[in-house]
Amino acid sequence: LSRSELQPDGPRDPPLRSALLRRALDELEAVVVIVDAQGREVFRNRAAMGLLGARHGDALIAAALTEALTSDVTGYRRELDLLGPPRRRLLIRGEALTEDGEALGRLALAHDISEQAKVVDVRRDFVANVSHELRTPVGGLVSLADALEEETDRAVIDRLVHRIRAEAQRLATLIDDLLSLSRIEAEGSVGQRRRLAVAELIAAAAERMAGAADAADIELVVEPSPDAVVVGDADQLISALTNLMDNAVKYSNAGGKVRVAGSQHRHSVDIAVSDEGIGIPAEDLDRIFERFYRVDPARSRRTGGTGLGLAIVRHVAANHGGEVLVASQEGSGSTFTLRLPGDPRSTP
Ligand code: ADP
Repeated sequence: LSRSELQPDGPRDPPLRSALLRRALDELEAVVVIVDAQGREVFRNRAAMGLLGARHGDALIAAALTEALTSDVTGYRRELDLLGPPRRRLLIRGEALTEDGEALGRLALAHDISEQAKVVDVRRDFVANVSHELRTPVGGLVSLADALEEETDRAVIDRLVHRIRAEAQRLATLIDDLLSLSRIEAEGSVGQRRRLAVAELIAAAAERMAGAADAADIELVVEPSPDAVVVGDADQLISALTNLMDNAVKYSNAGGKVRVAGSQHRHSVDIAVSDEGIGIPAEDLDRIFERFYRVDPARSRRTGGTGLGLAIVRHVAANHGGEVLVASQEGSGSTFTLRLPGDPRSTP
């Protein structure tokens, strides 16, 4: 800002340019307040006008701006947390405005950094969670190796080796899931886009799950699918379906059934995976798609869960312009539906 803009009505200020600048600053979401060298307010943009209200948060922002305008710190910075609702974090900045070494005034800015702050928090939580998840099996491996060193009884040695293998397998699964999640997130959309027959996607996932279903004494029933087609990445979609079937098997009791059915609708293709298992409490339904969220951590660990499966499914769905729906009744079972946009060329 030059001297003339700080004196919008001064003789050197072309009125048109001044009006333009005011209008431009009014378009900013950030709050902008400018004072002259004597500390008199000369400009306040539209976002700043909104702060004249009586809300508590507004008063806090106004006080922080005053501090930024009166402080003699050159680059004044302060983060201000507003409890809301909604909860917000603002960055308050104060800058001295000078030209050729002469003080012209001061500028105070407030802008909303809640989104950035959230990203930082999520990343920090994620690193803490991953470290914790890796630490547990690694700790197990160390103590199992210690026990093995002392052991001479063949039967006990065999048991310890078996447990070492299981812990190492858990680590490998966790690392594989972390890699898939990061790949799917990084791709942001789909890798290879192809027209894919829904029946073939279901068959491929069911084939991968056959062994685990058998071992858990669960009957895997693949219902006949219509000739539905979706457009997308086969690897991602099969991995999403495998995760849903894997959960359906893991959270069912022996002797139960898991059904997989594709159906074609006017604007979408649904693939539903239903089980007759333990179900999910209503209060957890919103959270199960978060990374590492588990309703019953002990059961998830016992069955080799990583807590990442549904996060992967949700990402795959989003990458394909679709969504995942869940309906569940505690004690009687759950249905997860992967809903994808239908291929326009095959819509009935
Ligand atoms: P995990 O590896 O623990 O299974 P997921 O992300 O796949 O992780 O699932 C998160 C949590 O959601 C599980 O720990 C479990 O509590 C719950 N859940 C997922 N699918 C089912 C289901 N079909 N039946 C009951 N609970 C389920």
